[in-house]
Amino acid sequence: MKELIEQLKLEHDLCDDALTAIIERDEQDEPLFSAADEVRRANYSTDVYLRGLIEFTNVCKNNCYYCGIRCGNKKEARYRLTPEEILESCESGYNMGFRTFVLQGGEDPRCTDDLICTLVDTIKTRYPDCAVTLSIGEKPRSSYQAYFDAGADRYLLRHETASEAHYRKLHPPELSLKNRKRCLYDLKDIGFQVGAGFMVGSPGQTTRELIADLRFLQQLQPDMIGIGPFIPHHDTPFAHEKAGTLKLTLRMLSILRLMFPYVLLPATTALGTISPIGRELGLKAGANVMMPNLTPRRVRQYYDLYDNKICMDEEAAKCRACQEGRVRAAGYRIVCDRGDVRRPVKPEKREQ
Ligand code: SAH
Repeated sequence: MKELIEQLKLEHDLCDDALTAIIERDEQDEPLFSAADEVRRANYSTDVYLRGLIEFTNVCKNNCYYCGIRCGNKKEARYRLTPEEILESCESGYNMGFRTFVLQGGEDPRCTDDLICTLVDTIKTRYPDCAVTLSIGEKPRSSYQAYFDAGADRYLLRHETASEAHYRKLHPPELSLKNRKRCLYDLKDIGFQVGAGFMVGSPGQTTRELIADLRFLQQLQPDMIGIGPFIPHHDTPFAHEKAGTLKLTLRMLSILRLMFPYVLLPATTALGTISPIGRELGLKAGANVMMPNLTPRRVRQYYDLYDNKICMDEEAAKCRACQEGRVRAAGYRIVCDRGDVRRPVKPEKREQ
């Protein structure tokens, strides 16, 4: 096993059988975590980047079986922040030291491209030293282009699963893996820093699906990879499914760090939800990003993608201070800048 970890660290790749052995291993994970941590330190030192997350609408036209804000959940109280409220969140976030704002939401039909573009433009004009990340789902290429032209820097769109059959188990017939992938390649082509990712332990996922996810990520070569455990929500068709485990999520984080040494890898809220020290352990397993919640407290409880989500009743400033302590206790350091990806520069060809 030690040799496999070493090989993955040096070559950033292994055959399917070897990856299966690492994913399904029944041994101590410490050697895997410390190899991942070594690689993260070589690329990013002890730096942890912060992203201020603003969950600006929980209205969604999609009906994904796993998600609490799916349109089929008629019990959900719906909200949509006004542009003023979003800008206020940015302002308090800026004063707390955030230099990236992530605007995330359901696929809300009332959030027109014009609205998004105006918002992005306003934020970029007010805070030229900040990056704006969008996470608002599947759109036509022309919309992505408009967001990019308005100044958006990054886009998060988890592919959720790279297996066609598994995708069908998680989504209603009107959604397709093909379109999800089309979106990701369009975003990349336009020039966004792109984030893909998947849930760990979603219903029907086996090692085979996880390897398909890794292979897809190798093709896409994203700048960011978001993973977190699947956690059931009581008003969804997956209410009685089992949650993904801490152990497997941490293991996947380490494997991702070894396969994609440069990638921006968050220790997610879902990871912090299944264990009180989940995010700290995530950092030690190779993660280098945290996403404190800047959503106004008034609406925060309604962005419940899954049950028992943490930090539902916390002031943004408290959330920020809490994360600072957690990061330091884990042995890392929050840095106050945009935190762009540090891809290795390809050596230029010398003239003969
Ligand atoms: N509408 C946007 C944002 C989706 S919410 C989009 O389509 O990209 C962000 C992520 O939360 C999703 O991509 C999904 O991976 C995750 N998520 C949703 N429901 C979840 C659940 N029950 N458990 C864990 N993660 C979940």
